[in-house]
Amino acid sequence: MAIPHPKIGGDQPVIRQLDDAAINRIAAGEVVERPASAVKELVENSIDAGATRITVEISNGGKALIRVTDDGCGMGPDALPLALARHATSKIDGKDLLNIQSFGFRGEALPSLGAVGRLVITSRAAGTGAHTIAISGGRQSVLRPAALNSGTVVELRDLFFATPARLKFLRSDRAELQAITDVVKRLAMAEPAVGFTLRDISEGHERILFRTDAETGDLFDALGARLGRVMGREFIDNALPIDAEREGLRLIGYAALPTYSRGSSIAQFLFVNGRPVRDKLLIGALRGAYSDFLSRDRHPAVALFIDCPPERVDVNVHPAKAEVRFREPGIARGLIVSALRHALAEAGHRSSSTVADATLGAFRRHEPGPARVYQMDRPSQGSLGNAARWQAPGLDEAPADFAPASARVEEVADAAEETAHPLGAARAQVHENYIIAQTETGMVIVDQHAAHERLVYEKLKRQMAETGVASQALLIPEIVPVNEEDGQRLVELATELGRLGLSIEPFGPGAIAVRATPAILGPVNAEAMLRDILDELDDIGESGTLQARIEAILSRVACHGSIRSGRQMRAEEMNALLREMEATPHSGQCNHGRPTYVELRLADIERLFGRT
Ligand code: ADP
Ligand code: MG
Repeated sequence: MAIPHPKIGGDQPVIRQLDDAAINRIAAGEVVERPASAVKELVENSIDAGATRITVEISNGGKALIRVTDDGCGMGPDALPLALARHATSKIDGKDLLNIQSFGFRGEALPSLGAVGRLVITSRAAGTGAHTIAISGGRQSVLRPAALNSGTVVELRDLFFATPARLKFLRSDRAELQAITDVVKRLAMAEPAVGFTLRDISEGHERILFRTDAETGDLFDALGARLGRVMGREFIDNALPIDAEREGLRLIGYAALPTYSRGSSIAQFLFVNGRPVRDKLLIGALRGAYSDFLSRDRHPAVALFIDCPPERVDVNVHPAKAEVRFREPGIARGLIVSALRHALAEAGHRSSSTVADATLGAFRRHEPGPARVYQMDRPSQGSLGNAARWQAPGLDEAPADFAPASARVEEVADAAEETAHPLGAARAQVHENYIIAQTETGMVIVDQHAAHERLVYEKLKRQMAETGVASQALLIPEIVPVNEEDGQRLVELATELGRLGLSIEPFGPGAIAVRATPAILGPVNAEAMLRDILDELDDIGESGTLQARIEAILSRVACHGSIRSGRQMRAEEMNALLREMEATPHSGQCNHGRPTYVELRLADIERLFGRT
């Protein structure tokens, strides 16, 4: 195959020096990926300027207009043209790239924005009059006097008009606005002393998306208040304060109890020296800290702030400064893991260690015999506790749940015909969750919770395809508090959710009323279900088709009706479950892709014992 090679044939290639406009457009490609990245740069500039009140106004998802107004130190007439020059910054002198105290330091945000959009900066520093300067597609205007009391107003219109290729990659106004909201909230979390307002001013209709005044009180009070406002009061109510130090690194913030976990990493907020980061090292440490408490598909909710001397961390490793590199990554990791484990142990371990003691005691009494075998139909401690508890996501995996080791053995009676089925005849249930069945050629171990989840999901899908999912009206509608965005997203899906048997309607600005739930699930916790649906929507984003979104939601909903591990089943129930699995497509795996059963053939078992 002949690939045209630019270096071969034709004229000798010519090396040119690119002009400033081209250089800035190239730089903008890295710094300004979408409107939200422009907002991030501008708000960070305002914070660096010592602002106490920052207002962000957006029109058409930031594509038409982004306006950031602050009451910071402002810029005088000499500074304004410089601010637009490439590599011009007031924040470092270039001698020490390791000692960076501000968000900005590269001096490239404003020239980059001016290269790809129409930028107007109006600013006033103490002791001078206000001035304004514009730069559009890289062309700078002359400096003019203007009217402004104090601070700075930066207006960015028609983002990417100078680079139409970039425009094509932008998502819907809604999606871009969502990304902007996330950016502003993230920055607001780390700056409790600054007041923020985010307003959508598209086509005349004005809407406040987020607003918070400067918080008062000491560091922890102010931080707690701010996090409550951004992440919801519920987060703070379910979170443990963290305050730890190790070798010069300090960790403060809040980490939620395992029972408040989420279905995605959506509620994980990490900051290094006030800078929001998405850092693999830190996320890994988080996972490690919760590994004993959460299953892999649940994600802890945290807002954690690491503070350290600037020279201990390199912030100049990512174009959008979204990642950092610790000089001693082991210390950062160790700090997170130990601080969180310690806090979680203090909070929740007391009850779980008493269960563990009781279990150990029970074993000791029965020594040296085999593990205890319960009589048929005698409910165990574990199953009683489980039945009474609503289905808190993630709770099933928590160690507090470990019931005394238990098994129930079924009589071997006229089981010959059952044994002939692929999944065999149920013989016992062990550890309240695993069904042991005998088949003609070996044995099968079924994870009853995973299996049931799958069956419910398949049944829901079937009902959906036929008549719509039958719903069960609630005697008293359940009122679930949600923030405005989430409420709107749910209401928009109300018709689809109705077909899933879930009937909801808006209930004032900050709540949703749940009137009916899918009948097949029995009694469910409507709030936990709505939260999981919201997480699922976040996970798929706007890219998925409606069909894909409904399926994903259905799969989440199915989890809420499943027999949680810890439910005792009689022989008939177990056999019915096995027969249903055989008759149901995809029943070999649960909704999370884990197997619902394993099969051991007689030959495998014999090999285990060295018989062959
Ligand atoms: P950097 O933030 O990396 O220094 P920018 O291009 O974002 O680079 O900004 C250039 C300079 O303009 C800053 O160093 C700062 O002195 C000034 N500046 C930008 N925004 C503001 C603002 N809102 N208030 C006061 N000064 C600002
Ligand atoms: Mg900057």
